Amino acid sequence: MAQILIFLGPPGAGKGTQARVVARELGIPHISTGDILRAAASKKTSLGLAAKAKMDKGQLVPDDLMCPIVEDRLCQPDCKEGAILDGFPRTLAQAECLTAMLSRVGLDEPLVLNIHVEPESVIKRLTGRRTCQTCGEIYNVYLNPPLRDGICDQDGGQLVQRADDNEEAIRIRLQAYDHDTLPLIDYYQSKGHLRQVDGNEEPEAITAKLLSFVKTHDYL
Ligand code: ADP
Repeated sequence: MAQILIFLGPPGAGKGTQARVVARELGIPHISTGDILRAAASKKTSLGLAAKAKMDKGQLVPDDLMCPIVEDRLCQPDCKEGAILDGFPRTLAQAECLTAMLSRVGLDEPLVLNIHVEPESVIKRLTGRRTCQTCGEIYNVYLNPPLRDGICDQDGGQLVQRADDNEEAIRIRLQAYDHDTLPLIDYYQSKGHLRQVDGNEEPEAITAKLLSFVKTHDYL
């Protein structure tokens, strides 16, 4: 049965870190809209350049650009058994368009996993975040440093800081989260699709909790 999982939570909740592990465990693709936009930006496509202007300031990319990107990706054959959506939907309009596209593509309603963390703790997580340029592994210089400064433990790739992980962009991203994304919690709660996970626990405990929700979910 195809499982579409949505990882919800504020910037810095650990969605990307957890999505990578859970996707590997379940053998389904991890679709990060942030990663798709950053890849487009580095290739300097017209979408990428438009997105970069918004992203670097911490603002959301318009819904009419985002929805077709996700629909195209969900139509790929590797999504037949399901997928993890990380960073989408981020607005109520995106959630509505996801519901419509899932029924068009013939996939079930999603299971939504909300990773809850206090806003105060995300600043340190985001300002300390470094990502491997080659394999995408995520570190934190305060909380989960690599063995060697600036170098990925997995493949020796260079660790870089995202352009939007500075205090001003983080402040705007958190505002966008409160204003645009928080309403999705009630939206999915009222459909009975929401599960809550405490994002302050150890990463392994969070992974175990997420997997237990997925494995006990009743797809009717
Ligand atoms: P984070 O969750 O840490 O803020 P992401 O990597 O998910 O980071 O997203 C980075 C940026 O990409 C966002 O701040 C936004 O500009 C853009 N973005 C990603 N997904 C979406 C989306 N679904 N709708 C609008 N903008 C998006």
